[in-house]
Amino acid sequence: MEAAEFRRHAGRFAGWVADYLETVEQYPVRSQARPGDLLTALPPACPEAPESIDAIFHDFQELVLPGITHWQHPSFFAYFNANASPPSVLAEFLTAGLAAQCMLWETSPAATELEMRMTEWLRRLLGLPKAFVGSIQDSGSTSNLCAILAGCNHATQGRFGEEGVAAAPGPLTVYTSAEAHSSVEKGARIAGLGSASVRKIPIRDDLGMDPEALAAAIAADLATGRVPGCIVACFGGTGLGSIDPLRAIGEVARREDVHFHVDGAWAGSALMLPEVEPLADGIELADSFVFNPHKWLFTNFDCSAFFMREPSRLAQALALTPTYLESTLATGLPEYRDWSVALGRRFRALKLWFVLRGYGAEGLRTKLRQHIEWTNRLAGIIRASRDFELTTEPRLALLSFRYRPAGLDIREIDAVNEALLRRINDSGRLYLTKTLYRNQVVIRFVIGQTYTTWRHVEEGWAAVEAIAASV
Ligand code: PLP
Repeated sequence: MEAAEFRRHAGRFAGWVADYLETVEQYPVRSQARPGDLLTALPPACPEAPESIDAIFHDFQELVLPGITHWQHPSFFAYFNANASPPSVLAEFLTAGLAAQCMLWETSPAATELEMRMTEWLRRLLGLPKAFVGSIQDSGSTSNLCAILAGCNHATQGRFGEEGVAAAPGPLTVYTSAEAHSSVEKGARIAGLGSASVRKIPIRDDLGMDPEALAAAIAADLATGRVPGCIVACFGGTGLGSIDPLRAIGEVARREDVHFHVDGAWAGSALMLPEVEPLADGIELADSFVFNPHKWLFTNFDCSAFFMREPSRLAQALALTPTYLESTLATGLPEYRDWSVALGRRFRALKLWFVLRGYGAEGLRTKLRQHIEWTNRLAGIIRASRDFELTTEPRLALLSFRYRPAGLDIREIDAVNEALLRRINDSGRLYLTKTLYRNQVVIRFVIGQTYTTWRHVEEGWAAVEAIAASV
């Protein structure tokens, strides 16, 4: 492609993205595509002759766009948000243009140094312990895996990388809350421990992990020769936003000398609000912590900030230096490839730099406070409603509810809520997801999209009420 043609398309696509973001509300939030729609429209094999960008772009609009769920739609209240923002998108343009592979300091010094500085900015913003050193991983799942690897390496006195699970005198074991994200169990699988090594510690009425049950589980395992490898606490569990008692858990971890990781993938961003800090009391006892700026800090997926007290616990488990990766420069700075599962690394720090400077800390705090305030306001509306039940109180910007018209038994209530959720999402007006609370189906409502305003929450709730009336 000639440079002039590239320039023409680049300008046009930038304009298209700007238009898209301005008009995103016109789309159904969740794609209305049926299984196979795109597959049947695509030729089975790659074209032999080059095609024009105009033709490809036409097909993007006609074929691909209908199969997109619009995560940047302000009525996206499902899962946890995967947010972007104008500064972040602009940075991603630059990142795509540079297409740098930032595995070593030498392969892009600015990427390593910006990553160091951005994770330091985040550490200060969130009030994390001074000793924490950060890196940017692709996802919360990878960060949780890295924590498990670091923990197993610590439990085996630095022999996990070399010897694997055989380095431990008994089965390495991971402890986490029954409310923990599935990536913790997946991490245990990938680390070679298996699902059977994961102890899902019961929760208390406030949904937090029961620290006494944790201590008892560890004691029982030690008595049978198992080796505690890692404790993973929730700071904002996925289903209902559970927050574990970090201090009590951290004390157990210290007593037993077990690596203590805190998964704040979603809620971690809120630690930049002084009023939220007390919820994380005891975080200074953690050995590692993750939160995802790609969830609730308006930074394009993928961007997961992973902090460790002793990075050597992980680096020892992962670092390999074949001759072709040897650097001619001794910088004394981190070689982040030793802190990552993949060797190759995207330049993720750039979009963080744009977001943190583009909003400023105060701009970010304002947005987070709005989301939390609107969640509390919505909770008040649900509490006052005759046919709906607020099943769990707001945890930061997440609440759960269910439709509970009079005269239905427990099984019928579950079925009605499943049906309601299907109809809500089929309507395209808003997007919600479900979870279980006390073994019953409840619907989650997460307020955290970059472009959401109170109007979208109000209209979303009005849609829920209207659709419920027809179920
Ligand atoms: N931890 C928690 C608490 C989550 O909610 C999620 C995803 O929603 C993850 C980890 C996994 O994050 P990622 O999608 O970045 O792998």
